[in-house]
Amino acid sequence: MKPIELSFEFFPPKTQEGIEKLRATGAQLKALNPKFVSVTFGAGGSTQQGTLDTVLEMMKQGLEAAPHLSCIGSSKDSLRGILGAYREHGIRHIVALRGDLPSGMGEVGELRYASELVSFIRAEHGDWFNIEVAAYPEYHPQARTPKSDLENFVRKVQAGANSAITQYFYNGDAYFRFVDEARKLGVDVPIVPGIMPITNFSQLMRFSEMCGAEVPKWIARRLESFGDDKEAIRAFGLDVVTGLCERLVREGAPGLHFYTLNGAAASKTICERLGLPTA
Ligand code: FAD
Repeated sequence: MKPIELSFEFFPPKTQEGIEKLRATGAQLKALNPKFVSVTFGAGGSTQQGTLDTVLEMMKQGLEAAPHLSCIGSSKDSLRGILGAYREHGIRHIVALRGDLPSGMGEVGELRYASELVSFIRAEHGDWFNIEVAAYPEYHPQARTPKSDLENFVRKVQAGANSAITQYFYNGDAYFRFVDEARKLGVDVPIVPGIMPITNFSQLMRFSEMCGAEVPKWIARRLESFGDDKEAIRAFGLDVVTGLCERLVREGAPGLHFYTLNGAAASKTICERLGLPTA
């Protein structure tokens, strides 16, 4: 089987306990030889220093770390400042997003879409940064039509993205169709599926409602039927997500990007079950 590139996503912890837990998670996942880890960024300033601090912590652990950066609600000057700080710290990999305005924050900012942020980064920093962008196999919830969303994705790649990470999904067909359509429109960069391990039913339904990812009915009903039986949820979730990953890898996905929620166990077990040689 051809080697596959793994990456893991974290969020900036808010407490000392969270920082220590993430340090341990980073150490465990490093054993899987990931290509990089990434750290989310809160639009509107909530976790911006936390993003940089967490990235630096991961780099200290010997991991390549990519901060996310969102443009909504920001001025070009503030983005320029953040990008400059990343560069000063030797960061060369970034996930460029539009983000979502926190409720109550009215100002859209100077860059309206992720494609504009990618163009801005390229104009200010040339090829310094390796840029990832987001892709939506089930389409972005605010997209006017699937076609326009796909065209907007193509625009981000044309603006200079090096590769893409998808929103999570549990329907492999949606991913493969999306990749096919993007290829037909000339996109040749890797489109890496985002994988959300299943460990908690109510949390999964809440996240999915917010980001527009579909949890197929057969999965939701089975999970719901387990009630508070955490072990049954864990076992079923591992089976479902490992099966999805097996298919993705077998049918040509270039890598797997895990939404870890700062825990190592589920992502690590899935990778071990897959028995993948990593790149
Ligand atoms: P865009 O690509 O700008 O698209 C947003 C919407 O605008 C889409 O509906 C698109 O079709 C439409 N659109 C784009 N261009 C145009 C145009 N020119 N004209 C008209 N319509 C257009 N959020 C965070 O706040 N922090 C994070 O760290 C974070 N990390 C993420 C990581 C990944 C891998 C993914 C998949 C999502 C992440 N998100 C994060 C969530 C993301 O910010 C939201 O999904 C957000 O709503 C869209 O961001 P985007 O970069 O995909 O936006």
